[in-house]
Amino acid sequence: MPTDSQKLPLPKKKRPRTCVACGEESPKRALMRVVRTPEGKVEFDSTGKANGRGAYVCARLECVRAAKKKKALGRALKVQIEDSIYEVLEAQCEEERAGN
Ligand SMILES: [Zn+2]
Repeated sequence: MPTDSQKLPLPKKKRPRTCVACGEESPKRALMRVVRTPEGKVEFDSTGKANGRGAYVCARLECVRAAKKKKALGRALKVQIEDSIYEVLEAQCEEERAGN
């Protein structure tokens, strides 16, 4: 039995970035990432690179509100999402729009 254990780590499953509200796949820019940090904090991840479990929602008020209503983000991250998170996301939507 070969003992050399040069086992490659399992490749990380690449999950498609889909909106938790509408399920649409969008180019990265149009999706906002919400992350549950290893400390269990939930925050809007403006860099898209924060450590932790992430969930995405379109940068559209419609989707943010639907996600809130359905508690879709909370389900995706398995944690309760505070309203303040949604407020941040809604504000981001407006910025997206203005920046276009
Ligand atoms: Zn969406």
